[in-house]
Amino acid sequence: MTDDCLFCSIVAGDVPSDIVAETDHAVAFRDVNPQAPTHVLVIPRVHQPDIGSLAEAEPEATIDLLRLARTIADDAGGTYRLVFNTGADAQQSVFHCHAHVLAGRTLGWPPG
Ligand code: AMP
Repeated sequence: MTDDCLFCSIVAGDVPSDIVAETDHAVAFRDVNPQAPTHVLVIPRVHQPDIGSLAEAEPEATIDLLRLARTIADDAGGTYRLVFNTGADAQQSVFHCHAHVLAGRTLGWPPG
């Protein structure tokens, strides 16, 4: 837990969120600014800034996060995009690792 981290506060229950699923290692909740009919963020309970750091430090949590993301995507129809914005220039705005699960519409390529 990092005191000034929004997503740590969501994991702790100190900030309300629309949680859709939880596991021992991960929490999934709806994005407040959805970019698709299904837009769910899947985050580890532990604080790591990005997916690479999480994989290095917590491989079990990384696998758990990816499995939970797939479950959510399957529930949304099985066609989806999994996005890890990593770094400010890639539009990462919350520096607690999170996967965006986007589904429910046609998704263009390449992304912006
Ligand atoms: P990123 O820009 O990749 O770091 O993604 C951060 C995401 O968190 C954005 O899509 C925001 O809309 C979303 N977000 C910010 N605050 C909240 C919140 N309190 N609950 C749910 N989603 C949030």
